[in-house]
Amino acid sequence: MIVEMLSGTSMDDYPLTLTSIVERAERYHADQDVISRRPSGAISRTTFGACARRARRLAGALADLGVGSGDRVATLLWNQSEHLELYFAVPAMGAVIHTLNPRLFPDELAFIVGDAQDKVIVVDESLLDVFESFRTAHDFSHVVVVNHSGDAVDTESLDYESLLSGADPVELPALDERLAAAMCYTSGTTGRPKGVVYSHRALTLHSLVAALPDQLEVSARDTVLPVVPMFHANAWGLPYAAALAGARLVLPGPRLDPESVLDLCASEHVTMTAGVPTVWMGMLAALDAEPERWELSELDRLIVGGAAVPRSMFEGFDRHGLTVIQAWGMTETAPLGAVCRRPARLDDGPRDDQYRYRTRQGVASPFFDIRARDENGQAVAWDDAAMGELEVRGPWVAASYHGGRGAENFTPDGWFKTGDVVRIDTYGCIRICDRSKDLVKSGGEWISSVDLENHLMSHPAVAQAAVIAVPDDRWGERPLAVVSLRDGATASPEELREHLAQDLAKWQLPDRFEFMEALPCTATGKFKKTELRTRFVSA
Ligand code: ADP
Repeated sequence: MIVEMLSGTSMDDYPLTLTSIVERAERYHADQDVISRRPSGAISRTTFGACARRARRLAGALADLGVGSGDRVATLLWNQSEHLELYFAVPAMGAVIHTLNPRLFPDELAFIVGDAQDKVIVVDESLLDVFESFRTAHDFSHVVVVNHSGDAVDTESLDYESLLSGADPVELPALDERLAAAMCYTSGTTGRPKGVVYSHRALTLHSLVAALPDQLEVSARDTVLPVVPMFHANAWGLPYAAALAGARLVLPGPRLDPESVLDLCASEHVTMTAGVPTVWMGMLAALDAEPERWELSELDRLIVGGAAVPRSMFEGFDRHGLTVIQAWGMTETAPLGAVCRRPARLDDGPRDDQYRYRTRQGVASPFFDIRARDENGQAVAWDDAAMGELEVRGPWVAASYHGGRGAENFTPDGWFKTGDVVRIDTYGCIRICDRSKDLVKSGGEWISSVDLENHLMSHPAVAQAAVIAVPDDRWGERPLAVVSLRDGATASPEELREHLAQDLAKWQLPDRFEFMEALPCTATGKFKKTELRTRFVSA
């Protein structure tokens, strides 16, 4: 009897697939709103029920075009309801949705669609120019255009709405949970972009964990506005988490300027939103300029991640009664890996301690294992002093890249090397000190570019700051700060150095400051240090 109990369980081996999320949205959240702002600014309203029904027809239409199990369907779309329909239809029919970032260069997009061997592509009409820039590089079997203007699509393309209206809804097939569901390329800060292929199981578990109260906290009472694009690590999993939980979903389309996003937050009573820090910097400036313009009392939390969140951003939004929560993740981790929620032990602590805690990247999500190892491969202590490269593993962490490239990013014992250099405290809370390629090593001592950037951005005149290493005969490397000032503000290098000297040792201060009107950003909205290096390091 005991042997029998140990050798087998009585539990059903139920597959964890996105199909269950689609069916749940269709059955239980059919009336919940899905709101899209069109490129024209017009608002269109639909529901999860309607999206799921259309997804069934879309699956039928794509099958008629020859899309079969495992085939890649590329999307060149904004955050809009058609994109959600594709998020539902493509994985649920057994194919793979491959979201493309329209902000990449044409040669990168050409490389990516070829590497992924995309079969069909669905393009928003407003992105046809981008599509034309790489169209000839790859032989798509069909091009489908989401057409808002009512103009006829070109003779070589198919119209999305006509395709749907001519198709019959399909029964969703039973799928293996290990089947590929979606695909996304890393923005490739080094080398060529690399593809990450997510399984149904990975995205289903990711959605469940993302929805948890101490994670991104998505519930049926929320109105979720992902500013983070659906082509950037699945909008951090929010569309699936919202469909699972039955949250209202507001999809902002291409207009992501601060005023447009704040307008949408106010008019749609948004409770949670998410995006990279550069987006929120603009939002904060708009709120500071016109604090009374937007009624945001329902906006409960702003999830900010993808790059370090400076303390000035937490303080700035707190002044407006808005709570910023930092999260850490990567394309390779689907992306959620850690969330920084203030622990109860700090509730009554000094504000300074609270802010210091909130600028950390957070505690690993459930089922997400972390460790940090030094240059000799030794695991570093969780004492908040020793530094090492963060390595991770878990059910939604990549075990390889598409096509087997980048094998050096995985350890022989199955961990993914993040390239982030961290300290971990005794509670397991991560603090990113740098990316391994961004660290400055001066006279044998590490200088954290992240620390310098955070302190610079706390100066009232500074809008943006990035620190890079420049070769130095005496010290090996020295930090150089590239700064953009707020409109109308002035600050000299001496003044900025004095500001930094309040908190940092003299040898850590940048010797050189360069000023730019705006810092160059990557396609995912992070400071582009490669460009700064090319521009300033040889100068
Ligand atoms: P890429 O590496 O191409 O920019 P990702 O969008 O996957 O692609 O970025 C992942 C990286 O972004 C992480 O390895 C880390 O360096 C950085 N990052 C993500 N979230 C944070 C955060 N909260 N704080 C600091 N850095 C972050």
